[in-house]
Amino acid sequence: MKAPMLLGGIALSLLLGPAISTALAQGIVPAPDRRPDEGIGPFDRLTIRNVMVVDGTGGPPRGPTTVTVSGNRIGGGGGRRGAGQRGGRGAAEDPNLSTHTIDGTGMYLLPGFVDMHVHVGGRPKSPEAEYAYKLWLAHGVTTVRGVSLSGNEFTVREKERSANNEIVAPRIFNYQRPRGDTPEQAREWVRRAAERGIDGLKLGSSRPEIMAAFLDESKKHGMGSTAHLGQGGVAQMNAMDAARLGLDTVTHFYGHFEALLKDYVVQPWPVDHSQSNEQHRFGQVARLWDKIHPPGSPEWKAYLQEHLDLGTVFDPTMTIYSAGRDVMRARAAEWHDEYTLPSLMDFYTPSRGSHGSYWFYWTTADEIAWKNFYRVWMQLINDYKKMGGRVTTGSDSGFIYDTYGFGFIEELEMLQEAGFHPLEVVQAATMNGALTLHEPKGIPIQFGVIREGMLADMFLVEGNPLANFKILYGNGAIKLNDETGEVERVGGIRYTIKDGIVYDAAQLRADVRAMVEKQKRERGTQGDGVR
Ligand SMILES: [Zn+2]
Repeated sequence: MKAPMLLGGIALSLLLGPAISTALAQGIVPAPDRRPDEGIGPFDRLTIRNVMVVDGTGGPPRGPTTVTVSGNRIGGGGGRRGAGQRGGRGAAEDPNLSTHTIDGTGMYLLPGFVDMHVHVGGRPKSPEAEYAYKLWLAHGVTTVRGVSLSGNEFTVREKERSANNEIVAPRIFNYQRPRGDTPEQAREWVRRAAERGIDGLKLGSSRPEIMAAFLDESKKHGMGSTAHLGQGGVAQMNAMDAARLGLDTVTHFYGHFEALLKDYVVQPWPVDHSQSNEQHRFGQVARLWDKIHPPGSPEWKAYLQEHLDLGTVFDPTMTIYSAGRDVMRARAAEWHDEYTLPSLMDFYTPSRGSHGSYWFYWTTADEIAWKNFYRVWMQLINDYKKMGGRVTTGSDSGFIYDTYGFGFIEELEMLQEAGFHPLEVVQAATMNGALTLHEPKGIPIQFGVIREGMLADMFLVEGNPLANFKILYGNGAIKLNDETGEVERVGGIRYTIKDGIVYDAAQLRADVRAMVEKQKRERGTQGDGVR
């Protein structure tokens, strides 16, 4: 989501210096130091026995087998006699080395997920970073790309603390929104950003000469780029214009449909439209679905072929707009009661002040437009995948009834709905994200695949997620137990392993539920109003 005031402020802070950054950092409480009882390891030798493995490359599941980890690196496994296994046997013989064994019977082991589009929240909706971090980890997300996570000063510090495992949090990649009104200012911003440890740019739909300067300079510094090609500027910077200038990733759908318009060169807005009215803004997005060259047309194919040739990555974040096609479902999601902070629920509630809470008077026609839009959008994403284009997974949670972690799993379900095989979904959610984060730096991936030598970022879940992604939701999937006649909740991630440290995912979920409970108690009997 693009929150103009907040994000503008963050970008401004990079130009104006520490005073403003500090003020913004106060909008979110950094995670507390990791307590000794939070997570175990890393171990000289961690052994995960009798587990089914989905490696993230798109390869088929294998096992049951044994996977070993030495420190924070995957070593051996898959029944092969790799170096890690030999080293592991040596470790087991040495009483001075720490060892730990997990019985993976009945479980699947996958690489940690990579959420390519996150913001951590902040006051008033979710004041503590710990809330989003634990929800992400509890849903198997071990790496996030903040676009931006929050202000740069906060993000740099939290990224470092996470890298040192001083906090319970996923790995953090720091993308920030650049500023610059002239090409030279744009280049100067990028040069300073590179010095400040920023990993990449979260672009908008800047005008062509500014966009060109941002992208050209970012490549000189090994920085990545992703763009939300906002409707305000997309008439002169659609997804093809941006890709031709060297943009790495198109996030959301903005810019695709505008590049495929059939009868116009700009979106044919209603004449009484105001972009400042968020119901207008989000309602009109969906009206693009039948204004474009239709799926499968020569123009459609040529559009995707040129992106493929340019190497553009699509990061659709379908989950974040999904309430548009059925707002009652999103508002009444089963997880809100236990896992959505009351303050976040307040933020989601229709309001002209909260970004993305645009349900001023949402109609049947609005939902049907969004259902039609999704059919076309999903086909665009799936056709690109079929041609060999890279698709990644992002959630953008924290807006539009889309709660951290849960939204990410919904994105997996929606990719399957778009036509992805579950193994293609996992590939998008793991290896593809890792490739996209590492390529700008010119280095091979360090995580995102279960392979010897990779960082030990993984998770274990009871049951087979390829058969049902719903078991990855924090509150599991509903299943009738035919032996007892009881309705049960099954699944839920059992362990999330980040950097060789094993977290009990049930405990992470319990911590989040306690945060929600605490806020409910503090609010006492205050009326909740219509939600
Ligand atoms: Zn966003």
